[in-house]
Amino acid sequence: MAGPGQVVVDVRRAGICGTDVELFSEKLAYFAQGRIGYPIRPGHEWCGVVSALGEGVDPGWLGARVTGDTMLGCGHCARCAAGRGHVCEDRREVGIMGWAGGLAEQVLVRVSSLYRLPDAIDDKAGALVEPGGNGWRAASAAQAGPGKRVLVCGPGTIGLLTTAFATAMGAEVHIWALDRGREELAISFGASGYWTADDPPLGTYDAVVDCTDDQRMPAAALARVEPAGRVVYIGIAGVPSLIDSRDVILGDLTVVGILGASAGLAPAIEYYADGRVDPARIVEVTVGLDEAAEALAGKVSTGAGTKVHIDPGR
Ligand SMILES: [Zn+2]
Ligand SMILES: [Zn+2]
Repeated sequence: MAGPGQVVVDVRRAGICGTDVELFSEKLAYFAQGRIGYPIRPGHEWCGVVSALGEGVDPGWLGARVTGDTMLGCGHCARCAAGRGHVCEDRREVGIMGWAGGLAEQVLVRVSSLYRLPDAIDDKAGALVEPGGNGWRAASAAQAGPGKRVLVCGPGTIGLLTTAFATAMGAEVHIWALDRGREELAISFGASGYWTADDPPLGTYDAVVDCTDDQRMPAAALARVEPAGRVVYIGIAGVPSLIDSRDVILGDLTVVGILGASAGLAPAIEYYADGRVDPARIVEVTVGLDEAAEALAGKVSTGAGTKVHIDPGR
């Protein structure tokens, strides 16, 4: 039942990411911080069709194809008033903290968190708007643009999408991976250079974006950035990952952390809709809800892609 200002969405597609795997294995930092506990229904990368409206919701939403923001601020504190609901102290996070997610046949969400999906965005891409929003934010924080060289660390979903957005913004993008396994995929997302642990990148870049969960990488990223450049941190390690702040000062660096996709959702939809970014190759394997537990346990192969999708209609 949708309450006032809420809608029910029939889920067409939901993605599983590293955060979901960490929810399933109780490794997410929010557990240790006492912010979350079981039961949790995951699913923060989803798309679907609005099937029921709560009181006060514009009837125009019925039947709309949508995706939604994960971050739900309280709506009345100073941070929410300033448009920073994604860091609201009393926020909920759909599928992560205090709000049941989209890994289900239906999900209940606030209408204020919804984004309409144009026809040009199919269900697969629709459920990739959330990771795309993270990629757009990371590429924007790197100030990717013509004449800029950007190094993206990690060829996972966020690294590849950051590469695609930064390339679309006009930058020359290189990827730094552990091995050559994703080189072809990286090139298809726009990378013009590909480096590995054995063959590390030479010189410096105008911006370095760390999309890994390797605790050594934040310091390694600092060592690869051009003085007065930008370092963007979006990957999270399971243990503290230390950097030397003297490197930031002496390099006159700008360091940016990215939490969530919120401000990137609308731009990601635009980039997908007009074809500047095509996220399709992120997902090669789609299974039904009956295989969701195995997917959350990491037992379903992503194939040539980086992410498994769940189709509740299967
Ligand atoms: Zn995710
Ligand atoms: Zn708030």
